[in-house]
Amino acid sequence: MTARILSGKEAAAAVEAGIAARVAALAARGKAVGLATVLVGEDPASQAYVRGKHRAAARVGIRSFDFTLPADAPTAGLEALLDRLNADPEVDGILVQMPLPGGLDPVRLIERIDPAKDADGLHPINLGRLVLGRPGLQPATPAGILRLLDHYGVATAGAFVVVVGRSFLVGRPLAILLGLKGRDATVALAHTATPDLAALTRQGDIVVAAAGRPGLIGAGHVRPGATVVDVGANRVGSSLVGDVDWAAVSAVAGAITPVPGGVGPMTIAGLLENTVKAAELHAVS
Ligand code: NAD
Repeated sequence: MTARILSGKEAAAAVEAGIAARVAALAARGKAVGLATVLVGEDPASQAYVRGKHRAAARVGIRSFDFTLPADAPTAGLEALLDRLNADPEVDGILVQMPLPGGLDPVRLIERIDPAKDADGLHPINLGRLVLGRPGLQPATPAGILRLLDHYGVATAGAFVVVVGRSFLVGRPLAILLGLKGRDATVALAHTATPDLAALTRQGDIVVAAAGRPGLIGAGHVRPGATVVDVGANRVGSSLVGDVDWAAVSAVAGAITPVPGGVGPMTIAGLLENTVKAAELHAVS
């Protein structure tokens, strides 16, 4: 079997078209949409991600503002910047690029962002709303993964989904979203202390790999015909590779996301979606 490719590039283009229409509708009412990105340090991968986010914002008509600080920027300086952006009426969405250099507490900075401008959907208020099943800004990567599955008609209702990785950025909120009424998946959340990972993932109708370990998921981890979503974005030499052994798994799986061009573009689409949603709420308040 050769797996069907679930292209995030293609699905993101469809999402972006919808966002561009919403941005244009706001512009017609005199409301410009703005996104501020905060990058700390000079990690080349993070710089590339931020550039990609600015390019995507421009494609849908969102203005973006770039704030880059040195790796040794003190927490107090970053908090002061976030306070300024929270108060700036031209800024509807704010994101702090992860991972942050060692010594900075990501959660402390996320907590400083106004939850109504939380473009990454990671503020505790928004994560709390997610657990409660209430509307709010949703974590960009998990929301993007669900949109990708929807775009290709991969049903989650009734499916057994194994999510590998329990970070607050990806795995844990994704597991919660999948289990909500309406999504109706049965979910297992695997992590470093899961005893026999392959035995568990082989039961999955859908396997989501979000561990940050190149090649973690091999052919023996996947039931023939299953759908495999590779969230991993690992730098190996000069290439970007996922957590899935692409060559081996694409011969077994029914459908698979590529790296690059899979979850990455959907994460950016999720970020833009949150920013326009925030602007729509700001425009009526
Ligand atoms: P993280 O390091 O915060 O969390 C990794 C999780 O994986 C942990 O919960 C850990 O328990 C689990 N894990 C690690 N090794 C494991 C193993 N051998 N078996 C089972 N579980 C294991 O990472 P993160 O921020 O969640 O990111 C995960 C990966 O996803 C990274 O490669 C990151 O670059 C990528 N990522 C990609 C996007 C995207 O848009 N494509 C967005 C966010 C993260």
